[in-house]
Amino acid sequence: MQGAEKFEILIPEADLQARIRELGAKITQDYRGRDLVVVGVLKGAVLFLSDLVRQIDLPLSMDFLGLSSYGDATTSSGVVQITQDLSKPIVDKDVLVVEDIVDSGLTLSFLRESFIARQPRSVRICTLLHKPSNTRKHVPLDYVGFTIEDRFVVGYGLDFEQRYRNLPYIAHVPP
Ligand code: 5GP
Repeated sequence: MQGAEKFEILIPEADLQARIRELGAKITQDYRGRDLVVVGVLKGAVLFLSDLVRQIDLPLSMDFLGLSSYGDATTSSGVVQITQDLSKPIVDKDVLVVEDIVDSGLTLSFLRESFIARQPRSVRICTLLHKPSNTRKHVPLDYVGFTIEDRFVVGYGLDFEQRYRNLPYIAHVPP
């Protein structure tokens, strides 16, 4: 793709899809007989969520939450605002929050508190990527696709100045 030649592939498409099949199988086992709502965090989690739900063999429902984070493009300030809320209440539901990446943990910590206040039956987190070396707020992560080092990544939902979300793989952006 134009402009992406300088990127270095970190997780190829086949590896992403293989891991997503494993996560889907595990989630299917864990949520059998439950009232599962999969909640995607816009926009980054959209590609991951759409592949993941196709690997979950359960009659789930989906919803989406829009967030805006104050701070620059590459660091999280932890001050987060909900720009688009869920379309339905989650009282007594089993909620699985799907995130693209957990870096400092500040965004997710805010989200988790906000969800718990809505009295669901359970809240669990599924993130495609985790950068543990940057943790500022510890949030329990129930399903993690890949643990990566602290470098800026793009592709498969993650942007670089709003572009490259449509790359089918995860890549590093050289400094
Ligand atoms: P946290 O609050 O955990 O520090 O940040 C989470 C959010 O920061 C992610 O949802 C994502 O929007 C952004 N982010 C963190 N690391 C990266 C990265 O390496 N690449 C991209 N594109 N966004 C990132």
